[in-house]
Order: sequence, then structure tokens, then C-alpha cells
Amino acid sequence: MRPTFLTAALLAAFAVPAHADTIIDRANGYTLNAAGQLQRFTSLAFDDLGRIIAVGSEQETAAALPRAEHIDVQGKTLLPGLIDAHGHVFELGEIASGVELYSPASLNGAVRAVADFARAHPKNAWIIGFGWNQEIWKLGRFPTAAELDVVVRDRPVLLHRVDGHAIWVNTKALEMAGVTRETPDPAGGKIERDVSGKPTGVLVDAAMELVNKVVPLPTPAEARATLDVALASLAKVGLTSVHDAGIKVVQDDIYRDYADHGKLTTRVYAMIGDTTADFDELSKDGPLKSYANDVYALAAVKLYSDGALGSRGAALLAPYSDMPSTKGLLFYPDAEMRAKMNKAMKAGYQVNIHAIGDAGNHQILDAYAQLIPQYKNVELRHRIEHAQVVAPEDIPRFKQLGIIPSMQPTHATSDQNMAEQRVGHERIKGAYAWRTFLDQGSKIACGSDFPIESPNPFEGLHAAVTRQNNANVPVGGWYKNQAMTLTEAFRCFTLDAAWAAHQENVIGSLEQGKWADFIVVDRDIFKISPEQLGKTQVLQTWMGGKRVYKK
Ligand SMILES: [Zn+2]
Repeated sequence: MRPTFLTAALLAAFAVPAHADTIIDRANGYTLNAAGQLQRFTSLAFDDLGRIIAVGSEQETAAALPRAEHIDVQGKTLLPGLIDAHGHVFELGEIASGVELYSPASLNGAVRAVADFARAHPKNAWIIGFGWNQEIWKLGRFPTAAELDVVVRDRPVLLHRVDGHAIWVNTKALEMAGVTRETPDPAGGKIERDVSGKPTGVLVDAAMELVNKVVPLPTPAEARATLDVALASLAKVGLTSVHDAGIKVVQDDIYRDYADHGKLTTRVYAMIGDTTADFDELSKDGPLKSYANDVYALAAVKLYSDGALGSRGAALLAPYSDMPSTKGLLFYPDAEMRAKMNKAMKAGYQVNIHAIGDAGNHQILDAYAQLIPQYKNVELRHRIEHAQVVAPEDIPRFKQLGIIPSMQPTHATSDQNMAEQRVGHERIKGAYAWRTFLDQGSKIACGSDFPIESPNPFEGLHAAVTRQNNANVPVGGWYKNQAMTLTEAFRCFTLDAAWAAHQENVIGSLEQGKWADFIVVDRDIFKISPEQLGKTQVLQTWMGGKRVYKK
């Protein structure tokens, strides 16, 4: 909806407080030039609209913007706002609004967390939780519905396993879903049962849908509350822009409304999930390249070629090393996949395709090789999301075709043991192969895939540079030869992520004419030991010249 002049004026008066020309002084400032080289400065000036007027010394900024308010950051380190090129914003909020099951170290602890949450949220019709892992509990089996019934019997409980590939529910949820001993296992799924065939409360992969489909969709008010929670956690870790990897009409409505009212405290570059009904609705007027001062854009489409490595859903060219009976599975035959890609490209959208296995990547590269020449006058900067296991001979094709590898450094360090079991010692050399991509001149767009991983980009920078997980394991780094330098990683989380959203002229670095998106942090990331990078704390986050977070 287009606001009338009057409502627009009211919004400007009330929802978006006017702010003054501002100069940040005494900063230990770092940014990048267009070539990706580090530049230093001590002062940053931006006008009341949030546009950068000058970057340099205190004398230079004061001359450029004489009547500004001055803020002294007392030598603290100031960086461009960081960008996550692949995350799931509403899901992040959902997790933060549900029962947190990542920390409990035992089954008892998890059940107690569910009980506490249910008591604290008497109005929630469903108790939803995330992050349980029976392996950490050393249980040797899945947990059961009966164990949840002890604490919540009257309301349904649904708890997602840490990898998203199983749910643990109570008896009330099984009853509401109509799952009984007569219910057969669906194709690609499993209902855990006792010896008599009675469902015990855990549903795996495709069987999850039996219960998921009876969970009511969030109301508009719930969806907004979820977004508020997500935006707060993004600002807190210094993300001033995120690429939302798959949205529908309802999320688009909320994003536009938040953008209109100055409530989007992190910029969102969104991808439409798939080319089905929501795409038809959202693409009526073509790609939305910029909305409300570049706070929102909807110019990409997200598709999937295969699944994930952990569950052996990723499509491989040769069998899994730890299960030779399977090679995983492509989601679509080539012709169907190309028809989806072509539909999006024809409408002028950037196409961003999830591909984890080498067969998934190969299928998509072949498709791009056929389709891109048909649109040679438009530079859409198509991407492959994850590009996790790529056949060595396919890596140069990213550069030849101009495909951006959109990669998540923390995936490598979280997956290290599992990935090597799945693909073996040979294929692992083309996995998470950042150095190979960088050396051939590919720009990598870095992200986290939150909430699968933490959204904290400093954990991403740490993983990119050290090839170690948060606990700095393994010593020396996992296939350290594929690590990035800190400057490269910094660039992948700023300028090159901006480039992957066609936004390198407005964000991604601090220079005249760009938006004043920046953060103040508690340590100089270019001077500390790489092991400390992930511990960096954000003190302030500014987006478009407005402070949106202060520690
Ligand atoms: Zn994702």
C-alpha cells in the first residue's frame, strides 16, 4: 500500500525521529576500498538522512560537515556494518521465542526446560522448542513422548532436533496429528516405535510433516513479534544487512510495513522461496531492487537442488563414503530445475540455488551454462548457496560463468568430522574450498545460514581465518590450506556480500555517498590473535546513520 502524503508526513514526524548531522570522532576506523584493501581513518561524518559525507581525519570531517553533533568513541574500533549473505530471519526469531534446548546437557535438563517454559507461557497453544541432541545426553536412544507427558499433558509439545531432521513430541501432539500404531511410515520418513509398533514420540525426516501440518500458522501479531526478536539479535551481533534465503507473501508484507515505519533495523535483501504461487504474486511488478532507502529489496529467487550432508540428502556424483548404498538425491530432474531457473531469470531475478553435494553443484552449473547466454545483456549475478562439496573440475566454472559462491565459514568448522566421514579423504579436498575459489578470482559472499549456525559474524570471521570451531578445535585448523586471510574474510562479510546483492554502491564499506552502516566493537580485530576473533563484542550498531543497538 502507498501511504498518502499526509500519512507519510505523520510517519516522518512520529515513527522516524529526526536526527542531526553527526560526526564520530577518535575512532580506530577500518574500511575497504573498491579493490578490497584496508583503509584507516579516525573520523566519520554523515548527514541527517544517514548518508556518509566524509571519512578521514577529524579536520577533514569537520570541514565537510561544519554544524554536526560530535560523538567521541575514545579510540574504540569502528568497522563497516557486517552483512550475512544467507540467513533465515523469521526462523531465527522463532527459535529465540521458543524453548531453548541447545544448552541442557541431559534429558532431565531438557524436560525441565520444557516444564519451565510451559509454566512461563500459559497462553501458548503449542509449546515449540529447538536444539535437542540425544547424543550429547549420552542416552543411546531417542527421548519419548512419555517423558514429555510428565511435564506437559494438556497442550501439544513439538521440539525440533538440532539438525532439523527429527522432532520430539508429546502424546497430545501425536493425538492431534492422528498418528497411531496404524499410521504407516511415509516415503523418506520414519516414525519411531516401541516393540509393539506404538509411536514413541520421535518422527524423522518426511514423517515430521505428519505433526508439523497441524501446527497453526503464526498470526500476524505473532509473526511481528518473531521479527522483532530476530531484529534485536541481529543488531546485537553487528549485522546491518542480511540476505533472507527464502520468503513468502506474508513475510514480504511485514518487511515492507517495517521498512515504511522505520522499524527495519537491519537491511533485508530477500529471496522469494521457489517459483510457485508466492513467486507469481510477488513478481507481478518485477524485482524490487530497492525500497525505503535501500532498507529492503526483493530481487532474488531461492531454489534447492539437493538436501544436506548430515542426513545424506546432498546429491553426490559417487556413493557416500560411509554408506555406499546411496548417492543422495537431486530434488528435480534437469529439465524441471531449468524450467524453474528460467522462469525466474526471464522475470529479471537473481537466482540463488542451494547446492551442497558435488552432483547438486554440477547440475546447477550445467543449467547456468545453458541459460545464462540467453540473457547475456543482463548481469543478474546468480549464486550457488553453500557450494559445499564441489568436484575440482567444476570449481573454475564458477568463475567462467560468473556464479557467486555464497558460503558459510562456520558450516566447515561445525561439519568437519561428519563431512569427512560422508565424502572421504579425496573429495573433501574440494569441500569448503574457500582458498581455491578466492585464488581463481571468485568473490565469495559470506554468511552463517542462521539459525542453523549462530548469526554472530565474528564467529564466521574466526572460522574463515582459523578453520577452527568456537573451541579452537582442531589445533592448527582443519585443512588450513583453504583458510582466508582476515582481510579477505572481512571483505566477504562486507563488500563482496553487498556485491552479491547488487548493493556495493550503497553499503559494504564506509565511503562518501554510501549509507552510514557501521559498528563499534570492543577490540581491534586486526591486531588480536585470530583465536580471539569470535569473542569480539559489539558495543554499538548504527544503520543508516541511526544507532539501533548499544551494549
Ligand atoms: Zn539456508
